Amino acid sequence: MKIVCSECGHEFESSNDMLMERPYKAQFIEVYYSCPGCGNDFRVCLPNAETKRLQKQISISEKAGNDTKKLKEKLKKELDRINGR
Ligand SMILES: [Zn+2]
Repeated sequence: MKIVCSECGHEFESSNDMLMERPYKAQFIEVYYSCPGCGNDFRVCLPNAETKRLQKQISISEKAGNDTKKLKEKLKKELDRINGR
């Protein structure tokens, strides 16, 4: 997938190892690219219904002091699926 930066016009090929993840609004994960030209971030995907549901479950479980490892694995898989990894 080719991405053209809307800031500097730099064209770059998106690849899996360029994908980065960071927390979004405290409880969600945002997946984004950084433009090699200007360093601007481009959002690849926002959470869908399933990842939102999982992330909600995780935060509820964490508050309750439960183990969230399995839920987090599920969430990772779902995010990977969205991103075609
Ligand atoms: Zn750029």
